Amino acid sequence: MKSERVAVVVGTRPEIIKLAPVIHSLGGRALVVHTGQHFDDNMSRSFLDQLRLGQPDLHLAIGGETRGAQIGMATQAIEAFLLDAQPAAIVVQGDTNSGVAGALAANSARIPLVHVEAGMRSYDRAMPEEHNRVLIDVLADMCLVPHETNAAALRHEGIAESRIRVTGSTLRDAIDIIMPTPTERTELIAARGVETNRFVLATIHRAENADSDANLGAILRELAAIPLPVVLPLHPRTRGRALEFGLDDELAALQVCEPIGYREFISLASEAALLVSDSGGVQEEACIVKRPVVIVRNSTERPEILGTFAHLVAAGSAIGDKVRELLERLPAVHEQLAALPYPYGDHAAEKVVQAIDELSARA
Ligand code: UDP
Repeated sequence: MKSERVAVVVGTRPEIIKLAPVIHSLGGRALVVHTGQHFDDNMSRSFLDQLRLGQPDLHLAIGGETRGAQIGMATQAIEAFLLDAQPAAIVVQGDTNSGVAGALAANSARIPLVHVEAGMRSYDRAMPEEHNRVLIDVLADMCLVPHETNAAALRHEGIAESRIRVTGSTLRDAIDIIMPTPTERTELIAARGVETNRFVLATIHRAENADSDANLGAILRELAAIPLPVVLPLHPRTRGRALEFGLDDELAALQVCEPIGYREFISLASEAALLVSDSGGVQEEACIVKRPVVIVRNSTERPEILGTFAHLVAAGSAIGDKVRELLERLPAVHEQLAALPYPYGDHAAEKVVQAIDELSARA
């Protein structure tokens, strides 16, 4: 008898968020593998809890290792797990080392591979994430993309049409699981000492920003000059680098905190005047909560939202210029965004499970 089980690999905060709805839709069929790439309670456990995921079926501990070691250790362990469990398919998400490991393990154990959030491209070869996502798409039997732009990118790279499905993004389903009521949101932001539309929410963690003394210093100084309180939950990597670069004074000028749980983060994002971020997920969340996001990066994988929800700026004075310009016409900006549809589809998790079933029926 063919197995009904489906292995799902998570390792980092965004994978837990975006695969939680898929795990829920799979129900008892899901076999969850957590690589432990993110391991702090506030980067992993709190997300498993808030998104109502139980204990993973396999929990590894690759966190803190080099990229090569992470991919190697996780590939070996996931391959052994797959050979033993023989699931009908394995699902990986996005562009992480955990995702690459899941893809390589699927390939060597000959288990059909599904890539959720496939076809994203920044065309920036300096980003390890860009190499990870290209590798996973090449190996995947089914590339599930959030937007038609991603399908076009895959076709351009010669991926066969039979391996591509436009499902939309599962992030919206994740937010449906955790979104607090307006009253809860008001309470959550009040506990941070901020008021609706009177603060900025910022996150910075990409290597191009966090690992550069000059860029990280410039970003923190630009944030500090914004004429509203700036809440900055610090990713562990950014905290480490900021302290190493001696940027204590810059941090002191901001409302810095530990990474925060998803319910609180979404509440802050929903009520902020605007967002400043280099995160992928936050760009999509901006489209859900209808707030503008200033993206501090050299490139973006989401060109379809540039000029509406998102504004791409380099690390430096362009941050403050763009933030001030948006703040000057904030009510009109919010009104314009409120009228725009979410560009990344709906009920994506259900469509992901349909695609998994289609693939396993074919195998
Ligand atoms: N996030 C969170 N708490 C925080 C910072 C971010 O819950 O303190 C969430 C955010 O809503 C988004 C996800 O974490 O959905 C993004 O993770 P990250 O920026 O680490 O990864 P990326 O999306 O860039 O891959």
